[in-house]
Amino acid sequence: MGVSVWRTPSFLFIIMGVINVAAMAATYFVSKRYDEPEFLVIAESVVVSCIFTIGRYIIGQFEEIDTLSKLKTEFVSIASHQLRTPLSAIRWETELMLTKLNRGLNAKQRKSIGTINLLATRMTRLVNDLLDVTRIDQGRLILKKEKVDIAEIMGEMIGEFMPLVKEKKLAVIFLNDSKNAATKRKIFNVLSDREKLGLVIENLFSNAIKYTKLGGEIEINLSKKQGFVVLSIKDNGVGIPKDQQMQVFSKFFRSDNIVKYQTEGTGLGLYIAKNIIEQSGGRMWFHSREHIGSVFNFSLPMA
Ligand code: ADP
Repeated sequence: MGVSVWRTPSFLFIIMGVINVAAMAATYFVSKRYDEPEFLVIAESVVVSCIFTIGRYIIGQFEEIDTLSKLKTEFVSIASHQLRTPLSAIRWETELMLTKLNRGLNAKQRKSIGTINLLATRMTRLVNDLLDVTRIDQGRLILKKEKVDIAEIMGEMIGEFMPLVKEKKLAVIFLNDSKNAATKRKIFNVLSDREKLGLVIENLFSNAIKYTKLGGEIEINLSKKQGFVVLSIKDNGVGIPKDQQMQVFSKFFRSDNIVKYQTEGTGLGLYIAKNIIEQSGGRMWFHSREHIGSVFNFSLPMA
């Protein structure tokens, strides 16, 4: 946080403890020698003043750290906003060059422009994630309340990721719990923000694809339980080491076992996803075993 050791709250707490013990001992010896109450009152006043002064200083440090943290969040927010416009321009221009203005370009030039477009798209995703994180941290994430069918979004997502699924030769199984739906129309309506819920599902599904090896299997389960719609995405991928599972929903977390071979990723997706689900009145949880696989679940109140 940019605060020197001797000014950190934990160090100050230790100092306060030491002073406290010393002051108590001194008071004890003073009151043993002098039995006038004035001495005791003076000694106690000195102790209280010490505690008060250090306590004030500690609170001051906390306030300073809090201000620094807020400034940092604001900085990230402003920087991300500023980056969004030029990035959009780069994407539009390169898309235009690849589609309408591609006459006269040779294959090598087209490939380079394609790469620029891909990288700008990736950067836009990162910038959007950073903006969502700052909105969450500042309590400014506003979610719409629309009737959304999770089955429909999940279906769309599977279609969108099909090229990647095929490339990795993965088997994707989508199970709908239709026995609760009297009409057999498999609708799983919840009240949520369509776009943000799409982000959550995209994140869980793309993680399952990313962290599952060639030829693996992903099983998606959608069911209704006690007034909630529950979506589970299970994979038989690399899993998350047990000692790191506590940090899974923290900002910027990426487990040790994947950083070596899967360089693409920011560690922001699950943090954002969990916050969106919780703000919509739901819950997100997971189970994972290294080398065996993971299952990520969330529940949302039925609409
Ligand atoms: P990213 O995927 O961009 O790194 P996320 O926030 O989506 O960030 O995920 C955080 C981390 O949690 C990942 O880097 C990975 O270590 C772990 N993780 C998430 N989903 C899975 C999964 N299905 N299988 C194994 N590890 C996972």
